[in-house]
Amino acid sequence: MSKRLITEAKRTPERAWLVEVSAVVLQQALADCDRAWRAFFDSRSGKRPGPKIGPPRFKRRSHRQAVRFTRNGRFRVLGDGRLRLPKIGDVKVAWSRELPSDPSSVTVIKTAAGRYYASFVVAVDEDAASQEPLPEAATGIDLGLKDFAVLRGGKVIESPKFFRSLERKLKRSQRELARKQRCSANRERARLKLARIHERIRDRRDDWLDKQVKAILEENQAVYVEDLNVKGPVRGRGAKSLHDQAFGGFLSRLESKAERRGRTFVRIDRFFPSTQLCSACGSLSGPKGLAGLKIRLWQCGCGAVHDRDVNAELNIRREGQRLADVAAGHAETRNASGGRIRPDTSGAARNPLQGRNEEPLGAGAAHAVL
Ligand SMILES: [Zn+2]
Repeated sequence: MSKRLITEAKRTPERAWLVEVSAVVLQQALADCDRAWRAFFDSRSGKRPGPKIGPPRFKRRSHRQAVRFTRNGRFRVLGDGRLRLPKIGDVKVAWSRELPSDPSSVTVIKTAAGRYYASFVVAVDEDAASQEPLPEAATGIDLGLKDFAVLRGGKVIESPKFFRSLERKLKRSQRELARKQRCSANRERARLKLARIHERIRDRRDDWLDKQVKAILEENQAVYVEDLNVKGPVRGRGAKSLHDQAFGGFLSRLESKAERRGRTFVRIDRFFPSTQLCSACGSLSGPKGLAGLKIRLWQCGCGAVHDRDVNAELNIRREGQRLADVAAGHAETRNASGGRIRPDTSGAARNPLQGRNEEPLGAGAAHAVL
């Protein structure tokens, strides 16, 4: 393929432009293609674990472009901070941080808004990073519609105001683009404008999310979250607000950072009734459905009065602790017996609802009962 698609293709008039870039870049594209097909065939034959994957497809046309240079492509970080790229030249770089070690490859990305990024692959020693002392607290995280999230003790992370103002800008810009004639200069200008807004949203959202994640992990040794379960009217895919979109990024960031910093991270089944469950007696007496969304305070049949979010956080935290204990229990059993034991597939771990109604929970020992 390398011979046909690179060497010979370069000689044809319609592919002559391939000569303009470094051959390493073309070889990398072939290597990516090779990896995708290999993964597909391995998945078919059962050699590859995990869900079945399909054959590679052509990339959706977008305005984002990327090339990857490897070490044998002779890219170099120069002493004066510039980056030398084959067939491109020495490029000035605004470094976001110092490279911790010699990079093995660099990917240069041109975004839809026309900005360029260089992304390096480096090897780092992880052990040195995880030497910090662990805090003792644990928290559940209740993601919500009104506030972004509620933490232990009713501590609220508000949804940032810029979500709303940027959302308005985005809508307007999208409408403008839709009105422009195809392939016109006006359309290209409108496209760039929209792309810039998208990038600004991404930058500000990522920055904000990083700060929230950092603050949470600084204070907590364990975090328990509900798997993405946006409470509220189910809207069409296109109508998701920036607030809703941010949840996915929040959870994946939290998970990876928690792992890197040696914290416990547990996802709870999205059907766990964190809002309905009374944290005092364990009955499912809380607000339900759409009507329940507006209820902030409620009283259970057992007499307990709950703030909806505080109650939900407590339920999430207990369920998370229980799941973490179950996992730790397995590890201990395995160590003691020296052999592998079958993971617990009984209802307790799989179905948090089972046994709830017959077996009310004590307030202080929720996870011990189950
Ligand atoms: Zn109750």
